[in-house]
Amino acid sequence: MPAKKTANKTRRPRPAAATHRKGVASRKNRTIPISVFGNVLKQFDTAARKLSLDRSICEFVKIPRRSTIVNLPVRMDDGTYKMFTGYRVQHSIARGPSKGGIRYHLGVTLDEVQALAAWMTWKCAVVNIPFGGAKGGIVCDPFKLSEGELERLTRRYVADMIKLFGPEDDIPAPDVGTGPRVMGWFMDTYSMKENHSVPGSVTGKPIVLGGSLGRNEATGRGVMLSVREAAKCLKLDLASTTAAVQGFGNVGSISARLLHELGVKFVSVSDVTGAIHNPAGIDIPALIKHVEKKKSVLGFPNAKRIEPEEVLFANVDILIPAALENQITGDNAARVRCRIVAEGANGPVTPEADKILERKKILVIPDILCNAGGVTVSYFEWVQNRMAFAWTEEEVNHRLEEKMVAAFNDVMKMARDHDTSMRIAAFMLAILRVVEVVQLRGIYA
Ligand code: NAD
Repeated sequence: MPAKKTANKTRRPRPAAATHRKGVASRKNRTIPISVFGNVLKQFDTAARKLSLDRSICEFVKIPRRSTIVNLPVRMDDGTYKMFTGYRVQHSIARGPSKGGIRYHLGVTLDEVQALAAWMTWKCAVVNIPFGGAKGGIVCDPFKLSEGELERLTRRYVADMIKLFGPEDDIPAPDVGTGPRVMGWFMDTYSMKENHSVPGSVTGKPIVLGGSLGRNEATGRGVMLSVREAAKCLKLDLASTTAAVQGFGNVGSISARLLHELGVKFVSVSDVTGAIHNPAGIDIPALIKHVEKKKSVLGFPNAKRIEPEEVLFANVDILIPAALENQITGDNAARVRCRIVAEGANGPVTPEADKILERKKILVIPDILCNAGGVTVSYFEWVQNRMAFAWTEEEVNHRLEEKMVAAFNDVMKMARDHDTSMRIAAFMLAILRVVEVVQLRGIYA
């Protein structure tokens, strides 16, 4: 019997269609979608040129190792079957098992998943954890699926890709549109096939299933730590700074809350439903409660509604894009007015925009450093699962801070030594770490 639709289905917010669009570039009055993987290749090539590396090794490390596409039938609540497309891209296993989240979103494409997988390789190398990079995604709108439909979709995805996954092979985690609930189903499906519980098969699980304390907050905490270190470099007193955040999900809301606790005044916030502004400062903990109830930042008391794109151009010290890729592009970067862009999201600034922001002397803390807190604590979760021993939240947060501060300083030193941006410096550091391992292992060709 098909399961009954749950109340969850109606509680989920409906995103505004127009805001689903990811980056486009205008060329001679035509709009062309920006290739996200193309952006990663440009970032890689710029950094690799500065390192004067062997070209054949560069070709080996920059292209994804394996890309898998599956068509997934799912029984819907009304008894019909619907097909969904799922992807898993394993970019690199040079430094360890491949690691990366699973995204549920209507805009998921192979190009996007390849880019996100590649960024995972470079991110894990920047924070120096023993993982390669991967990413997965399913083309779907999770807000329009019931809980039962989401569970069946998740289980079918895991079942179809089961040979790719495993604690020594490829370990997923949450991303946009997924969270601990989906990770719980993932772990259960994988464990059923293995005939015993395998908590290390996935990270970002509910705590009682072997999730790590501090994992839910880890990406936002990493963003906060990166901003704190950047503010020190620019001699900014955080308690007298202002900020804006685009995207108020896991990364956006938690980084805003932690920075708010350090005295940062948030004046503009957006999510997929719209944007709000209050020059006197938005009470972030109250906004988090409002969003929990209303599933939207709109309607928050003492804030006026503004156009969503205004958030990116707010006159603030710190801008945190924490939604999707290609938000700040060659077409709009000139309008960005902050001093620090902290990339909570993956790929929110295109290579063309990077050049413009650099000319404007805006410090961009690149995604592969800024949002690496999530994968760092995912690594801690995997370590705890392997030891069958749980650390305290203080221990997790302390180790995360050590990793993030060390990575920030490594990247900043590279940037200063080579007179380059933090993005290119982060890529240079990561490429050197991956290439060293590849040279020592040798290429089985
Ligand atoms: P999420 O689903 O929890 O939140 C996404 C937020 O972005 C929501 O508030 C949504 O309303 C908003 N949003 C979507 N489209 C928007 C638009 N066009 N304009 C404004 N807001 C929009 O996802 P998340 O986990 O917070 O991930 C956000 C970004 O951070 C993604 O790029 C993801 O890859 C990256 N990231 C996430 C993690 C993690 O641990 N969750 C780790 C590293 C990087």
